[in-house]
Amino acid sequence: MKTLIKNGRVVTAVDDYTAEILIEDETISMIGKQIDIDADVVINAKNKLVIPGGIDPHTHMELPFGGTQSSDDFFTGTRAAAFGGTTTIIDFAVQTKGESMISGVDAWHKKAEGKCAIDYGFHLITTDFEDKHTEEMYTLMDEGITSFKLFMAYPGVFLADDATIFRAMSAAGERGGLICMHAENGIVINEIIKRFLADGRTAPKYHALTRPTIAEAEGVHRAIAIAEMAESPVYIVHLSCTDALNKVREARDRGIPAFAETCPQYLFHSIEDYGDDFEGARYVMTPPLREKHNQAELWKGLKM
Ligand SMILES: [Zn+2]
Repeated sequence: MKTLIKNGRVVTAVDDYTAEILIEDETISMIGKQIDIDADVVINAKNKLVIPGGIDPHTHMELPFGGTQSSDDFFTGTRAAAFGGTTTIIDFAVQTKGESMISGVDAWHKKAEGKCAIDYGFHLITTDFEDKHTEEMYTLMDEGITSFKLFMAYPGVFLADDATIFRAMSAAGERGGLICMHAENGIVINEIIKRFLADGRTAPKYHALTRPTIAEAEGVHRAIAIAEMAESPVYIVHLSCTDALNKVREARDRGIPAFAETCPQYLFHSIEDYGDDFEGARYVMTPPLREKHNQAELWKGLKM
């Protein structure tokens, strides 16, 4: 099957030019000025941008959480991704507490099998990591699952203590794996939540006020410090604010391999979106939406 895209403006990470692109099956086989080949499908991309498919490294399809589950399954979520130009997702499989890491990945393969409209891979949310899990981690890495997400938030659900984080980082670092960190001090946050609940402050906006930026900055700082001791790189997921970003900047300035992602919601929405009524529940996420002044710094961080 040959597809020819004509007259498009090709934009890549490094270039911007007008060209024709020949795709054979699923591979770009030629980029040139005038490709003289009979294609099965010809797409006229005049006045359009032709860009590489996006990779979304942070999705949760059919994730069970808090007694419910995320609304997209592997079909609806990947179909939506394709419409937006995202051609690969990396979703998070979950190791059920007390069970093996491999059975977690197997379970997510079953959910995704035959349902995805685009390419997909997995990270593994790691809830237990004793030294005995090292071999399992390496088996998964041989199968292509090389990134493992740990949580400093959600005590009693996903939270991994510092010892677990240190063991997992040490094992991953040894073999070229990567630990992804949900970096918020969930233990202190839970205490703040208890106070708010006791005061009857339960509107959606209080979700944001119970999770201050310093709780995230502390998590980022601690994650980087533990990674440094474990001699491993670390990747902070969904970083939301300047306080946390500054911890990554300090580490980078010292030459430490610390990385961070942010998400569109933190670049475009702010704490004001919670409003005062229950409509604000649409914006409940962790970390929560922040004060608007954080946005400009996050944009700068993307160019770091
Ligand atoms: Zn996530």
